[in-house]
Amino acid sequence: MKLPLFYYDHPILRQKALLVTEVTDEIRQLIRDMEETMDAAASIGISANQVGKLLSVCLVRYPIEDEYGNYSRAPTKVYINPKLSNPTKQTWVHDEGCLSIPKLYVDVERPVGITVVALDENGNEFTEQLTGWAARVLMHENDHLNGKLFIDRLTKKQRNQIDPALRAIDKKYNR
Ligand SMILES: [Zn+2]
Repeated sequence: MKLPLFYYDHPILRQKALLVTEVTDEIRQLIRDMEETMDAAASIGISANQVGKLLSVCLVRYPIEDEYGNYSRAPTKVYINPKLSNPTKQTWVHDEGCLSIPKLYVDVERPVGITVVALDENGNEFTEQLTGWAARVLMHENDHLNGKLFIDRLTKKQRNQIDPALRAIDKKYNR
């Protein structure tokens, strides 16, 4: 079932997600519903608080770029209780968007690589070393689970430039 999305500047997007204590069928159903919601928007990631659930669950479909510069999305990957560590010193800048901040794309600087430990949807722990897009998308979703948005990572100048657009989104979706 497709779930309703929560938009900037809804307070739930600023709350920290709670750790999942047991991966139950209810959690797996939430994952399926989040996947449907993500796919309906052709998005490359979604976190549970974006659909109103304060649980540490996020899904990503990493963008894959072909030799002609066209993007497709990898199959859905589930991260429950993700814990990120060892960000690389090297960073890169690319524009990001967000389901909760429609139609706004802004350059964000992030580390090139990251290590993640998480549970899969069967409750089994796994570790991954991610680089490039995979690292970027997971860091974006992990920010959500910590009550952060990509707009918090902008320079003051960037933020000032998009402030009118942000106010318009808030007015359109929350008022
Ligand atoms: Zn987002």
